[in-house]
Amino acid sequence: MNADLHCHSTVSDGQLAPAEVARRAHAHGVTLWALTDHDEIGGQAEARDAAQQLGMSYLCGVEISVTWASRTVHVVGLHVDPASQVLIDGLERTRNGRAARAEAMGEQLATLGLPDTYEGALKYVSNPDMISRTHFARYLVDSGCCTSTQDAFTRYLGDGKPGYIAHRWAKLADAVKWIQAAGGEAIIAHPGRYEYTPLEFGALFGEFIDLGGKAIEVITGSHTPDQYAEYADVARRFGFEASRGSDFHAVGEGRVELGSLPPLPSDLKPVWERWL
Ligand code: AMP
Ligand code: MN
Ligand code: MN
Ligand code: MN
Repeated sequence: MNADLHCHSTVSDGQLAPAEVARRAHAHGVTLWALTDHDEIGGQAEARDAAQQLGMSYLCGVEISVTWASRTVHVVGLHVDPASQVLIDGLERTRNGRAARAEAMGEQLATLGLPDTYEGALKYVSNPDMISRTHFARYLVDSGCCTSTQDAFTRYLGDGKPGYIAHRWAKLADAVKWIQAAGGEAIIAHPGRYEYTPLEFGALFGEFIDLGGKAIEVITGSHTPDQYAEYADVARRFGFEASRGSDFHAVGEGRVELGSLPPLPSDLKPVWERWL
């Protein structure tokens, strides 16, 4: 089983269409796949149909932006019904505000000597509801201002950096409930990316468990190999099941290719086993 249960398409901030991501996943040996666009399930039908044609098992997915203790947490939902009205409405409310936030980011970057970045970022946007920091990063790279999207996040766009505009996303409880209402399981995405204290992490995981959350990502393209081990231990301590996904966005961007991560540690229970 080569499960890749976290990646993006042009429906959010990826650069390949859902069917193109499907073909690339299949070509790289993925046998169980989920497309998990940010706050959007508009690509699910195309992804599922493409997976079916390729003979790849498929789970409908989404990655919901959440604000918890003033920081952003991403919650992946797997095996969600894309026709669920609760989920559709919740995601629409979560997307609202992205445009105003992006305009504010453009103004902020202009005060740092980087003019017209909002207009620039818009050229990279494929879904007008889903302008994200990634689109600003691509513009900053292609305009010669930054050497890589990572450089753009490190210097300007990352949380707390000079071009960062704080934003209030969905509540953790709401995101988990929307996923559950749609028949899916909620998974805390790339926990290693969050700058919480140990006490805060304990509270986050505790609240997530109280809401019925059962799994975290352990093997993800957003973790370093050290973090694979660290979050495998977290899964053991909290009794979480584990998930695996590349967080692939675009060819030549990011660290990891679809389907190419190490397997889960064999003592951890894969979250996807319930659907096989
Ligand atoms: P947004 O939803 O607009 O806040 O953008 C979040 C997206 O930016 C994430 O899904 C990643 O694709 C990307 N991102 C966030 N932080 C980083 C980082 N430190 N390095 C590279 N990409 C990042
Ligand atoms: Mn992204
Ligand atoms: Mn994420
Ligand atoms: Mn992601």
